[in-house]
Amino acid sequence: MEAKLVESTEIAPLVRHFVFEVPEVEKFSFVPGQFVSVNRMIDGKKITRAYSIASAPSETNRFELCLNLVHEGLLSPKLFEMRPGEGIEIRPPLGMFVLRNPGREAVFIATGTGIAPFRSILKAQLHETSQPFTLVFGVRHESHLMYREEFEEMARRFPHFRFLPTLSRPPHTWIGRSGHVQKHLHEAIEDRRDLDVFLCGLKLMVDDVRNILKEMGFDRKQILFEKYD
Ligand SMILES: Cc1cc2nc3c(=O)[nH]c(=O)nc-3n(C[C@H](O)[C@H](O)[C@H](O)COP(=O)(O)OP(=O)(O)OC[C@H]3O[C@@H](n4cnc5c(N)ncnc54)[C@H](O)[C@@H]3O)c2cc1C
Repeated sequence: MEAKLVESTEIAPLVRHFVFEVPEVEKFSFVPGQFVSVNRMIDGKKITRAYSIASAPSETNRFELCLNLVHEGLLSPKLFEMRPGEGIEIRPPLGMFVLRNPGREAVFIATGTGIAPFRSILKAQLHETSQPFTLVFGVRHESHLMYREEFEEMARRFPHFRFLPTLSRPPHTWIGRSGHVQKHLHEAIEDRRDLDVFLCGLKLMVDDVRNILKEMGFDRKQILFEKYD
């Protein structure tokens, strides 16, 4: 199916938020946490890349993505060059990185654009349930905290949501959390072992946090992850 770009906006250095619509359907259906695959012919080869949907399902045919530019990459630079009205080929949403146990408390750990599926899940779920969620979001600099105002607003409105942003390269003026997400796992999880933990970002972080969680006593089935590279 074809998705047409409605608009794209820079939301952090080298990160853009994209709004697409799918003209051939009235409503674009997916489960929060799923991804779309984007196909494009580049130098005679069909290139396919997955992108987590960053928006909640709605009654419309729109969906949103959050992408960082991989300078040497094949597809992301092409997506960054797209202008409103241009189209790309996508495959319908897929993926198992979705809430498994309705009602069970969940901790989300994201780095960089790994925030995308959690924005989708939180936008869809916070209104619907009193299921507690904690989001640990790690980036280098404050300007990379994508959707920060949205998550802060969610934390103010919903007592069952905690937002724990952390900067690995904070300025002297930063009074919030610092260091990698690994440093804040205990604050997010405390002594609980009856939670599901969702990890999303690059392999280095995901593998490291999985190992820490296993050492903490988590069962493999309680750890869900999506690796971007
Ligand atoms: C299920 C899934 C969901 C994904 N969702 C998103 C998303 O929501 N947003 C997003 O920006 N990316 C996402 N990705 C990564 C995306 O599919 C591409 O890998 C990425 O855009 C790079 O593609 P490329 O063709 O530009 O670079 P390529 O030519 O494929 O690769 C260039 C190099 O960049 C590395 N790389 C891959 N992804 C990243 C990254 N995000 N940051 C830095 N280096 C990277 C690769 O390891 C590779 O060595 C997702 C990947 C998967 C598997």
